[in-house]
Amino acid sequence: TDFGFRRVDLDAKQGLVDDVFHKVAGRYDLMNDLMSAGLHRVWKDVMVTRLGISRTRPFAHLDVAGGTGDVAFKVVDAGAAAQATVCDINGEMLKVGRERADKRGLAARVEFVQGNAEALPFPSGSFDGYTIAFGIRNVPRIQLALDEAYRVLKPGGRLQVLEFSPEVVPGLDRVYDFYSFSVIPPLGRLVTGDAEPYQYLVESIRKFPRPEAFAEMIRKAGFGRVEVTAMTGGIVCLHGGWKV
Ligand code: SAM
Repeated sequence: TDFGFRRVDLDAKQGLVDDVFHKVAGRYDLMNDLMSAGLHRVWKDVMVTRLGISRTRPFAHLDVAGGTGDVAFKVVDAGAAAQATVCDINGEMLKVGRERADKRGLAARVEFVQGNAEALPFPSGSFDGYTIAFGIRNVPRIQLALDEAYRVLKPGGRLQVLEFSPEVVPGLDRVYDFYSFSVIPPLGRLVTGDAEPYQYLVESIRKFPRPEAFAEMIRKAGFGRVEVTAMTGGIVCLHGGWKV
């Protein structure tokens, strides 16, 4: 199937994204480990460290597109008085997340809420931290999601966005292209029975704004002290900002 985003409207894009994660929810965590050789754990660790969560003081955190809870679990591990809310548009992903939280005995500290990043179901000024990991690429109206991030944060609150970047270091690009187009979709088929969602994944990475352009969108939403950190040869990028 050609997802051809130029030909479909934004709501249809969201529909396709929902189908993708509906299909893969049960195998999502396994696929993450396989595809990134476990690196996604390291990238998420770096992101959560950047939040600067105190070991003892309360910290109200929101992880958007939080899927199966990875980031939220790291947040509550970082601070004894930290609480996390996972917000995702997809009920299947949240269901897997809730089960994982129960198994870890974290059900009281991690809440799962179904909602859209473009119109968050939370009052303004609710959170100390906002993260979105490998999620904003899937959101049809990215600027709207960033505006919402700004709205729900308290003054002084922190934003961290982790996302694949279309800009990898020279020399790595050929290997990365091969891996993206010739390894990932077949691997997806092997593990989930379907290559299409992973074909979509690879294509959506190429269409995402370059790091500097994305940093500009974050500034436009109102954030200050925006910083960009490329990791693993530019395969992923961490963008940080403060609600000032
Ligand atoms: N953050 C998790 C992680 O890093 O493992 C999950 C990332 S997964 C690649 C992308 C997630 O974005 C999916 O769970 C999907 O349901 C969610 N998503 C897609 N569009 C969304 C939207 N408009 N609002 C909220 N979540 C959305």
